[in-house]
Amino acid sequence: MSINKISTAAVQAGINTDPHHGAVVAPIYLSSTYSLKGFNDKREFDYSRTGNPTRATFAQAIAKLEQGSVGIVTSTGMAAVHLICQLLSTDDLVVIPHDCYGGSFRLFTHLAKRGQFKLIVVDQNDQQALVEALAQKPKLVLLESPSNPLLRLVDIEKITKACHNVGALVAVDNTFLSPALQQPLLLGADIVFHSTTKYINGHSDVVGGVLVTKEQALGEELAWWANCIGITGSAFDSFLALRGLKTLPVRIRQHQENAEQVAAFLKHHTAIDVVYYPGFTDHPGHELAKKQQSGFGAMLSFEVIGGVNAVKKLFDNLSLFTLAQSLGGVESLISHPSTMTHAGMEEAARLEAGITDSLVRISVGIEDIEDILADLAHGLKQSQIA
Ligand SMILES: *Cc1c(COP(=O)(O)O)cnc(C)c1O
Repeated sequence: MSINKISTAAVQAGINTDPHHGAVVAPIYLSSTYSLKGFNDKREFDYSRTGNPTRATFAQAIAKLEQGSVGIVTSTGMAAVHLICQLLSTDDLVVIPHDCYGGSFRLFTHLAKRGQFKLIVVDQNDQQALVEALAQKPKLVLLESPSNPLLRLVDIEKITKACHNVGALVAVDNTFLSPALQQPLLLGADIVFHSTTKYINGHSDVVGGVLVTKEQALGEELAWWANCIGITGSAFDSFLALRGLKTLPVRIRQHQENAEQVAAFLKHHTAIDVVYYPGFTDHPGHELAKKQQSGFGAMLSFEVIGGVNAVKKLFDNLSLFTLAQSLGGVESLISHPSTMTHAGMEEAARLEAGITDSLVRISVGIEDIEDILADLAHGLKQSQIA
């Protein structure tokens, strides 16, 4: 049986691996501790912070989908980001994108303020700024493509090459696309990570993270740290996320199909100024998306005419869309980045990153497209009524 295809690998993860009872689906092991076979004779697992069979099955499944060596499951997406920080010493320099996920931005800037490492924040599409940052020989460069919430893309392969030329490690946040649409390790990156809270689990009932390394040695070093600082994911969350993973490719297909139609509907709507969606041929990252992604994803954002008052009226008049943070679940969600996901950023940094008060982000769900469009049509109409 060939399990090279991503849908097959996702579905087959952990299937028929139980030697005791032949359980078809990987069982959940909640035990915190495991007996030794005898004095000084350990089994594969001894303590669930260090290793857990359910978590290991999920970690291997993700590592396979990302085509890496070692997968590490963490308690949250931010725990995966924090885990990467364990590689850094006080003299090391880190480069992060100016428009990265708000929580990542907060973590890196606050740890840098406390002197845990040095930090440069750059617009990674600004060639000059990037060249200047790399000339200072960073230890780590963080990439996020497409970015949240403006869907800006960066050329992962090209930047990774430049980073490797100066000896920097490259870590890519792949949360917005999942391995079903983008595989950064195949583009040269050293580390790929996710908030599994989003598309990978896909059902908005787990907060979790995962990190995969290209090289075995780096993976083992990070796995050592994950146990040391105690941020490994729980067995139950791993079980749920593995369950979600099995339908990732089919979910993504439907999410994308719906998103394409939503984007087309919003593009010429009179209540809207601009729509950010990489599937548009005039999106600055469109050609790059076609090159490094196998689809345009299902996240998009737009600016509503009439500022924050119009945004409020839009939100008040939607019934299918739920006003909530997060993304990537089967249900459609809508959010206001400047007061929600990016509220932790200082206003100047937020505006610098292009996140205005008129900006709205949506995570297009897999409901019937006619219902999704009807809800948006109603909300947008009401948003323009004085
Ligand atoms: C949600 C998210 C994170 C953080 O993950 P948590 O599971 O919330 O800790 C990191 N990066 C991106 C792009 C995200 O959307």
